[in-house]
Amino acid sequence: MKVYMKELRLSTSKRFELVDITAEVEKIVAESGVCKGMVLVFAPHATAAIIANEHEAGLLEDIVTWIREHFQPERGWMHNRIDDNAHAHLASAFIGASRVFPVWDCRLVRGTWQNIMLVEMDGPRTRRVIVEVMGE
Ligand code: ZN
Repeated sequence: MKVYMKELRLSTSKRFELVDITAEVEKIVAESGVCKGMVLVFAPHATAAIIANEHEAGLLEDIVTWIREHFQPERGWMHNRIDDNAHAHLASAFIGASRVFPVWDCRLVRGTWQNIMLVEMDGPRTRRVIVEVMGE
């Protein structure tokens, strides 16, 4: 089995922001030489998430609205006594900081409307995304 790993670094510019990393992840899959297997896309962060969905401006705003409504940044969360980002921890915990995709015919398999995005919820800051391709 082949295992190939690369790390992306990106800078976010807003508190809430979706960053499309599809092209970078697909490039890493292509250079990995893996033709049958899977790829893990993992953000080593407790206040960000990884999702796969349509990159359409209105939907990106809807996703941020949904996160704000469900995880309520202004609410008096306990964690906000020491840090001002409980909403981002909760959203990361429940949305998830990773996604896995199949790799087949040497390509990442995804739906037409499934772009891979980092969800920033406590920006702006520098974020890392680990992309690990496994297979043969
Ligand atoms: Zn915190």
